[in-house]
Amino acid sequence: MNKRIWLSLAHMGGREQDFIKEAFDTNWVVPLGPNVNGFEHDLEQFLGKNKYVVALSAGTAALHLGLVMLGVKAGDEVICQSFTFSASANPILYQGATPIFVDSEKDTWNMDPQLLEKAIVDRKAQTGKYPKAIIPVHLYGMPAKMTEIMEIATKYNIPILEDAAEALGSQLNGLKCGTFGQFGALSFNGNKMITTSGGGALVCSTEEQKRRVMFYATQAREPFPYYQHEVIGYNYRLSNICAGIGRGQMLVLESHVARRRQIHDLYVRLLSGVKGITVKCNSNENTQSNFWLTCILVESTICGFTANDLRIHLEKEDIESRLLWKPMHLQPVFQTSPSYTNGVSEELFSKGLCLPSGSILTDEDVERVVLAIKSLL
Ligand SMILES: *Cc1c(COP(=O)(O)O)cnc(C)c1O
Repeated sequence: MNKRIWLSLAHMGGREQDFIKEAFDTNWVVPLGPNVNGFEHDLEQFLGKNKYVVALSAGTAALHLGLVMLGVKAGDEVICQSFTFSASANPILYQGATPIFVDSEKDTWNMDPQLLEKAIVDRKAQTGKYPKAIIPVHLYGMPAKMTEIMEIATKYNIPILEDAAEALGSQLNGLKCGTFGQFGALSFNGNKMITTSGGGALVCSTEEQKRRVMFYATQAREPFPYYQHEVIGYNYRLSNICAGIGRGQMLVLESHVARRRQIHDLYVRLLSGVKGITVKCNSNENTQSNFWLTCILVESTICGFTANDLRIHLEKEDIESRLLWKPMHLQPVFQTSPSYTNGVSEELFSKGLCLPSGSILTDEDVERVVLAIKSLL
């Protein structure tokens, strides 16, 4: 019996338990503490660009507090990439605001800058107001066209909350994903680039923003000798135990990114020449995906099977794969939200499949996946 090959497993580096043990030994088994500060420091060093990082309980919490910081409230509209995981959009609803979905372009599969501008202009015409924020996503680790997106955001003076949950370690023009927007959200969920078992972080542009995010994340306690509250707060801080896992993971982040890129290269090599299957690659030399997940497009008219046929076939071989994200503008829960579409994400959703890509995989695992794919031809 072959062992099961998973899509993206947590991959410990070895030092994680040392940091956890230290937390136990010093009785810092609470939210906040030396591991939280250390983890935030490590992330700030890694990201560069003088950013300020707040460790939080989830990437979703980071996106939510990003919206809170940008003053998004009931009645506002927020533009969000349609081709993404629902966690990019849900926090807009937590704030009582309305998501406006914008489709993708074909190069990076992320927010189409032209369609973004069209949406901004049209929202202004329809509602008399500009959207309050823009949430582009670096899907599967592939950097979005941030230069173009930021140019438009600047033109209309709309802040960017960057969803970099899948893109830790990805780069565009030499800069790390998560550092482009006024705010950036990272995720340390179990299947992301690094894990804290569950967690996230909000990347801020100023120290004052960082202090304010920490204030919101710890129940918005005003500086009084008693508990005084003047705004609504949240319980969103990362625990010192989870942050210990994060510190250990930061020691292996670079090598995990390198390994995912290697795995992607191996898929490209082994699948080259297979008719009807194309592996998604960086669209130019200034774009460096972390290849969190290697994705393929399946042209059923050429190879005779669909992406879902292939998924079922791989499952029989004990290989986990996953269809690409179903666009938000097709989700029943967002039925009433306005959307600006061009057919790109719908086509990707119908043809795309994510292949096992975890840094824990061996070359032999990847070869087994490719053999399984070829056996369906
Ligand atoms: C994982 C993910 C999130 C949410 O992160 P959590 O830590 O799971 O809350 C947000 N956006 C995208 C695109 C994601 O993939």
